[in-house]
Amino acid sequence: MDNTLKNKNVILLTIDALRADHLKFYGYNRNTAPNLEKFIKNATTFFNCYTNGPETPSSFSAIFTSILPFLEGGYTPLPSQKITLTQLLKEHGIYTYAIHSNPNLGRFFNYDRGFDTFLDGERYKPKKDMQMSLNFKQKFSSHLVKFLDIKQLSKKLLYNLKGFNKIKFWLRDKIPALTDLLLPFSSIAYNAPYITDKIISFLNQTKPPFFLWAHFMDIHSPYNPPSKNVLNFRKEDFSLKQREFLTSKVYIMHHNPKVTPKMIDDLKLLYDSEINYLDEYLGKLFKYIQFHFKKNCLIIITADHGENFYEHSIFGHQGSIYDELLRVPLFIIEMGKKPNKRQIHDTIQLLDISPTILDYFDIAIPEFFQGRTILPLLHGESLKELDYIISECYQKNGQMKRNNEEGFKLLSIKSDLWKYIYDEEKNLELLFNLRLDPKEKNNIIKELPEKALEFRMIRDTHFQRALALDEKAKIIKAIKTVKLDL
Ligand SMILES: [Zn+2]
Repeated sequence: MDNTLKNKNVILLTIDALRADHLKFYGYNRNTAPNLEKFIKNATTFFNCYTNGPETPSSFSAIFTSILPFLEGGYTPLPSQKITLTQLLKEHGIYTYAIHSNPNLGRFFNYDRGFDTFLDGERYKPKKDMQMSLNFKQKFSSHLVKFLDIKQLSKKLLYNLKGFNKIKFWLRDKIPALTDLLLPFSSIAYNAPYITDKIISFLNQTKPPFFLWAHFMDIHSPYNPPSKNVLNFRKEDFSLKQREFLTSKVYIMHHNPKVTPKMIDDLKLLYDSEINYLDEYLGKLFKYIQFHFKKNCLIIITADHGENFYEHSIFGHQGSIYDELLRVPLFIIEMGKKPNKRQIHDTIQLLDISPTILDYFDIAIPEFFQGRTILPLLHGESLKELDYIISECYQKNGQMKRNNEEGFKLLSIKSDLWKYIYDEEKNLELLFNLRLDPKEKNNIIKELPEKALEFRMIRDTHFQRALALDEKAKIIKAIKTVKLDL
């Protein structure tokens, strides 16, 4: 192993559905994440970072492969021709560790490729295999859960037992190991206390060089934060009935006149309280990192996409591609080094994450990567401005889909001044002038046919490239099959 590589470590923290503009740093009126704000005082901060996919699967495919989601065989499951960052790191002898609890990022969809340790819920394992893999204790609990119909019972308790929510959070915090016992057969997900615990125990026993990726799902809907975090922002907590109404009734309403500004504000408050809850554990983790990793460690904090709060008459993060979903926070900290430049306004995309990590480890960046290293920006150098950023996913009827057989293309091309959106399902094109209309409300595609044509050409070239690569992959597969038959 190369000597320069020996002592280096990278920690990538990704937060599901964290909107940049719900952090004080990006101008929000609530201090949702005080620990994060404190930690990033030594960070290089990026004001204009955009995801290449508006939802988890397409975004993460771009993060880990540095290739746009539609190219090289799509993104779900992650095709074998897309080499992941972790495969490259592992080849260079770097220990790779992952913990996450998003079903879209599991082993089932090939996200474990290149990881030495990969902790996911295994929730996509077929039921039969799952039962076989349970140990005696887990099998016993599984039968008990079924016998008592725990899910239904819990729901009833939520309504009837005062303090149930509090107990749940208390248990999560005090006994994170409960998660290990319950995960294989319940919808319980790895949460911030559990993940923080696991990260710290990994960091306690590991040696450099390592790459750690941890993904937090706490902010993701349904929003059900502990009372204390709600009370940080308003005098009274929401009752469980109110929470249930807001997160499972209002949240699913799209283009519905019954949605009121108050409902939107209440949902935002619950979401912000979830950020505040996660921040407590990030604070614990940052303290640990600051004490134990004073140098030779690169920390990257970002999100896979944002969240809609009815700006375009929808909630959540499926079936739309506006900047509420595309703009994400990005903070990079080189432990022990003062950043040359603290605030970067250059346009960055999540395709840049993998090349940046390789560059930090002094590993050559493959030519097929579409992103570029942004380390030079940290060191006070400048990079050529990007012409545009492509973001894309498959969707149908406002729902996330995994591939072109299930769904239609939804794509945006964003330059400094313009944003072009193409919705294949509705055969719809939109164009916004971001300087005059940053909220993307006024579609001017008809007024500017030449501009529209420009973007259409970029779009079609991109689609043709995706198609050509798909065809190439099919031919290679066919040749392999013929060879096998012989
Ligand atoms: Zn996500």
